[in-house]
Order: sequence, then C-alpha cells, then structure tokens
Amino acid sequence: MPDQVALQNLHKYFGKLEVLRGIELTVESGEVVCVIGPSGSGKSTLLRCINLLEQPTDGRVVVDDFDLTDPDANLDVARRSIGMVFQQFNLFPHMTVLENVTIAQRKVLKRPREEADRIALAQLTKVGVAEKAAQYPSKLSGGQQQRVAIARALAMEPDLMLFDEPTSALDPELVGEVLRVMRRLADEGMTMIVVTHEMAFAKEVADRVVFMDDGVIVEQGPPGEVLENPQSDRARSFLQRIL
Ligand code: ADP
Ligand code: MG
Repeated sequence: MPDQVALQNLHKYFGKLEVLRGIELTVESGEVVCVIGPSGSGKSTLLRCINLLEQPTDGRVVVDDFDLTDPDANLDVARRSIGMVFQQFNLFPHMTVLENVTIAQRKVLKRPREEADRIALAQLTKVGVAEKAAQYPSKLSGGQQQRVAIARALAMEPDLMLFDEPTSALDPELVGEVLRVMRRLADEGMTMIVVTHEMAFAKEVADRVVFMDDGVIVEQGPPGEVLENPQSDRARSFLQRIL
C-alpha cells in the first residue's frame, strides 16, 4: 500500500526560530496517527505544513501523490482532499450551521445549493446536530460546534483529516461526544492525523502514536509501546507529567 502522506526532511523556521527540524513521517491510507508532545514542540505547525497553511522552509510534503511543496502545485486542488478541524472550531459566526457546512461546497466545489444542502444535512445527521441546522453557532454548545466543524470538513469529501487538539477547548463533559464522532470516522477507515492530549483516545483508536519534542519526532510506534513503555527520557517525563 503506497503512503498517503509522506513528509520528507521537513523544516520550518519562524524568523530565526527553527520549529520543525527535519521531520520524516509517512502515513498509510486508513491509518490513524496521534501526535503527542509538550506545548511548543511544533505539533500545530506540523499539521499546518501538511496542508500548506504554513509554507515549509525546506523539505517535501506529498499527499495522495500530490507534491504540495512543488512550486507549480495547484494548492487549491491538492487541499480539497484534506479536511482540518481546529481547537477553536473556527465556524463563521454570522452564518447558520447549514451555511457553515455548505459555503465551501458551493464556492470551492461549485455544488448547486440543493446538492450542498443535502450533503450538509447528511453530515450533520451523522455527527448528531442536524436539528441545529438553522441556528447560529453561538447558540450551540462547544461540543455541538466542534461536531459542526467536523461535518463541514467531511462535506468536502476529504480522504485525509487533520485534527489539532479538537477537544482541548471543551468543557470536560463535552469531550466524549466529539471523540465518539472521531472514533466512528476512524472505524470507517478515514486516514487521520490527530494532535491530542486525550491519551485514552490515543490508546484505543490510534494505530500509531508519534511523540514530538522540540521540533523532532523523538519516538513513534504502536500506542501500547509509546504510551506504556516509552524508550526516550523525554517521552517518559512528558507522559509522567500528563498522566
Ligand atoms: P504546539 O502545537 O506543539 O504547541 P506550535 O507548532 O504551535 O507548537 O509552535 C511551535 C513553536 O513555534 C512555538 O515556539 C511557537 O511559539 C512558534 N510559532 C508557532 N507559530 C508561529 C508563528 N506564526 N510565528 C512565530 N512563531 C510561531
Ligand atoms: Mg498546538
């Protein structure tokens, strides 16, 4: 099976600060990879480089055989297959839930309104918030808003989903409903890269856990190995601090 994502010698500087220092990572189709590591270790920057929300300073990003770092790459087309979910939901506050889930379908994919509405309602149903379609995001709980954000990404029919701490902004009682949606997506075979501090989720759902520190991948492997028997001092001390 060819790799769906291949990051080769990825470097990212912000000014003089080197935030990613030679990342090598491949992800197979259908794989769920959880990325863990201390704050400031470069996890968000890594995700943002995968869809070129950040331009890597050096190295290659290949997704679905598209080299996104090729200067001639059509990023709009390449990005269509990549969905992203952020910690802060990033819904458009002045649009209803339905409009949030149809806007990119209509503007980017040029779907007619009826088709976009139908797909949006199907995705909202899937994440359990279809009854909120006509509401504005501010009327929804954080867990509902994040599920809308997931539906919005899925409505574009991506084959890779990136999640950047999708439950970190949620009250504890709302975390489970979002993780359940993500778990089902994983069960359906979606390729997922998930930055998370939810170790129970990583343990149960991830095929592989990647531990990052200071811009490098320090170790990676099956969750049972990395989370329960970390080989590096850095991973051991990180896990002791958070567990
Ligand atoms: P993490 O997600 O692991 O907490 P980030 O990728 O957000 O880490 O950040 C890694 C480092 O890069 C941090 O030192 C952060 O301050 C810095 N950084 C992130 N984004 C920017 C930016 N746009 N400009 C300057 N520095 C940034
Ligand atoms: Mg981050």
